[in-house]
Amino acid sequence: MTPKLKFPRHSALHRELHRRVDAWFHESGRSRTGGLRMVIKTFLILAWLAASYILLVGFANTWWQATLAVISVGLATSGVGFSIMHDGGHRSYSSRTWLNRLTFYCLDLIGGSSFYWNQKHNRIHHHYTNIDGVDEDIEAQPWLRLAPSQTLRPWHRWQHWFAWALYSFLPVKWVLYDDFSNLVRGKVGNNPVPRPKARELVFLLLGKVWFLSLVFVVPLVLGHSILAILGLYVLFNIVNGVSMAVVFQMAHCVEEAEMVQIPADGRLPLGWLEHQLATTVDFAPGNPVVGWFVGGLNYQIEHHLFPRVSHVHYPELAEIVQTACAEYDVAYRCNPSVWQALGSHCRFLKRMGAQTGAPVVEDAPSESEAEPNEAVAGAA
Ligand SMILES: [Zn+2]
Repeated sequence: MTPKLKFPRHSALHRELHRRVDAWFHESGRSRTGGLRMVIKTFLILAWLAASYILLVGFANTWWQATLAVISVGLATSGVGFSIMHDGGHRSYSSRTWLNRLTFYCLDLIGGSSFYWNQKHNRIHHHYTNIDGVDEDIEAQPWLRLAPSQTLRPWHRWQHWFAWALYSFLPVKWVLYDDFSNLVRGKVGNNPVPRPKARELVFLLLGKVWFLSLVFVVPLVLGHSILAILGLYVLFNIVNGVSMAVVFQMAHCVEEAEMVQIPADGRLPLGWLEHQLATTVDFAPGNPVVGWFVGGLNYQIEHHLFPRVSHVHYPELAEIVQTACAEYDVAYRCNPSVWQALGSHCRFLKRMGAQTGAPVVEDAPSESEAEPNEAVAGAA
């Protein structure tokens, strides 16, 4: 049975960083949520998705027109996930609860489940980042080995080559299998989660019906062949799956990120903030195009430390976090460009495919964490 996980008491850096970020918001007079910038961005991304879909099913007459349109649909769908539903799910989109809920439900409209995302992402991944056996985001066994404590199998030596094909199956697996498997088992991975209430279950089921209708029923009614629909659905999965997987992997599955084993007594060695800093890596900071498309998830450290702050503020928060980390001598991990982050992810996959040892978090707890008692939350 998995022990109840406990982080040491909040460190001096944790308290100081929150004080500085609070002071920055107070002095700049800015709201922690997205405001008008997010409303404009939301309309742009939703219009991009709708226009691409209408072009695809209503106007594309040749294979190359359909290919371009479905690539656009795949990227726009990822954009909805990165920027709109993700902020809504973290309640950082707006100070209005209904607007956060509305934007969060966008996930149900693109095939996912806001109910299970809340469990998997907000409650598990954000608390227990890169902890093998708890964080479902590093669980791809037996296909991939993403942590030294996971079983090494013969095919993992080639995983840096075939991982990309597996990433392409991510959306279809998520939409058609994962959410239903979670529902039947009452678990996300090894973590027991509550059952959805009637309203949440209706949303989940209606979302699936809506999404699958857009993928199959509408094109069939408009006279497209089932072969063309299936082929374009495969291409949609490749574009959507690889773009989503890559953004996650560049933040948590790179050489610079630590993988953590569950300690026998459940007491984690690093404080919660230091744990996030050890397991999370920024990429391509200062690249406005990447930052816009991935919804600020290139500033993944800032997102993990301040998930209730809208991603539009992450570049400013990054300066505050970096300065504090330097002062407190805690590593701030960052790959300067997308290409460097992708290279690091490939090397990480190659290393995990060859390594049998189980090095875990190497940083020793700092002095301020010497009295481990304060439980942040308990895992399964
Ligand atoms: Zn998040």
